[in-house]
Amino acid sequence: MNILVLNCGSSSVKFQLINTDQQLIELNTDKRLAHGVIERIGGPALVHFSVVNADGSSRSHREAVPLRDHSAAIEKIVQWIISQEANIPGISSYADIAAVGHRVVHGGEELTSSMMITDSVIKQIEDCIDLAPLHNPQNLKGIYAIKKVFGGTAKQVAVFDTAFHHTLPDYAYLYAIPYQFYRRHKIRRYGFHGVSHRYVQYRYRTLVGLERENVNVISIHLGNGCSICAIKAGHSLDTSMGMTPLEGLVMGTRSGDIDPAILEHLSHKEGYSQAEVQSVLNKQSGLLGISGLTNDMRELIAEAVENDDRRAKLAIDVFAYRIKKYIGAYLAAMNGASAVIFTGGIGENSDFVREKIAHGLEWLGLHLDYDRNAATIRGKEGKISQDGSRLEAWVIPTNEELMIARDTFRCVMGLELPR
Ligand code: ADP
Repeated sequence: MNILVLNCGSSSVKFQLINTDQQLIELNTDKRLAHGVIERIGGPALVHFSVVNADGSSRSHREAVPLRDHSAAIEKIVQWIISQEANIPGISSYADIAAVGHRVVHGGEELTSSMMITDSVIKQIEDCIDLAPLHNPQNLKGIYAIKKVFGGTAKQVAVFDTAFHHTLPDYAYLYAIPYQFYRRHKIRRYGFHGVSHRYVQYRYRTLVGLERENVNVISIHLGNGCSICAIKAGHSLDTSMGMTPLEGLVMGTRSGDIDPAILEHLSHKEGYSQAEVQSVLNKQSGLLGISGLTNDMRELIAEAVENDDRRAKLAIDVFAYRIKKYIGAYLAAMNGASAVIFTGGIGENSDFVREKIAHGLEWLGLHLDYDRNAATIRGKEGKISQDGSRLEAWVIPTNEELMIARDTFRCVMGLELPR
């Protein structure tokens, strides 16, 4: 079954076309047929598509073309996928794309697993806009656009970033503010990056041959957004992002944890409106805010190492220290774990940052293998701790699109979803 996986942002759409079915899932041989991104939707958009050849190499197509909205961008993607130019084997018409899987950021308390998108599910996703005003409207644009491009009969599935965390116990998800605010406004921790943490959990147990019930690991997703998840007995016990993706670790431009009293203080001192304070915390903080240079970890490391830039170093130190603190907290919350697992652009590629985080954790039983750490970059997966470490360290490149494609296949076929 050919599944189109869509991830819609405010001015971008990322896609993958994945061929999957029950047997391919069991053998872990699902095939990525094409992938790409359209950026700067609403203006002269930048299109970058690739077709994956049978030998794993790829053919790329780039163009700049005006695209007024998400609907136009998605039509462009679908037209290209079925085109002669793309020449994807077995795909020449709309009917060859069996279903569309959407990454949806917030499912609230009700939408706790992947599901077929019906009008009532759309209504529920709309109801969650309040909780994720920056994300859910973009995801919905993709859903409306597919309806428009394929017609009302398109099979669409929503895969929620919050769903993996629906197992959080009440003592982990409640904030210590008056309880009626939880009841009235659903103010609680939801957690995000769930598709990625779930993939890490699945892939780790496949690699080491464990049943899900025996997986006790800390999954650390470090991309532009960053979050950490305590996975106990295969399920999310706690995670650092909260009601929104702003809480927790230091991120590219987001502050993560902060004393809530600072908001009022900042607004008073700088004369900021609430929206301006939110914008500072979401867009001007984190690595960018501390360094004053960039939100890009690769550039920061270059500044720190080659130019000895003090604030670049400080930004990396604050970033790594916060992660280390969370590892300690989660090990205590979980009564111990067997591994910490790095994923996301920084987690997968930066042996430098991983070493900084692991530094000093030998007393916990984490002994990094420096050669393995240096060699496990650019899409490689594997253990980076020394053999015999009581707490292992791993790198597992995330694959959210694969999870979305598989869930979409299962929902369309009416199959049971993995717990
Ligand atoms: P997103 O969360 O947008 O999907 P990614 O997971 O691709 O982002 O992560 C982007 C981050 O990964 C950026 O900060 C980038 O600098 C960082 N990154 C990518 N490659 C490296 C590298 N070799 N060393 C350090 N950081 C890297």
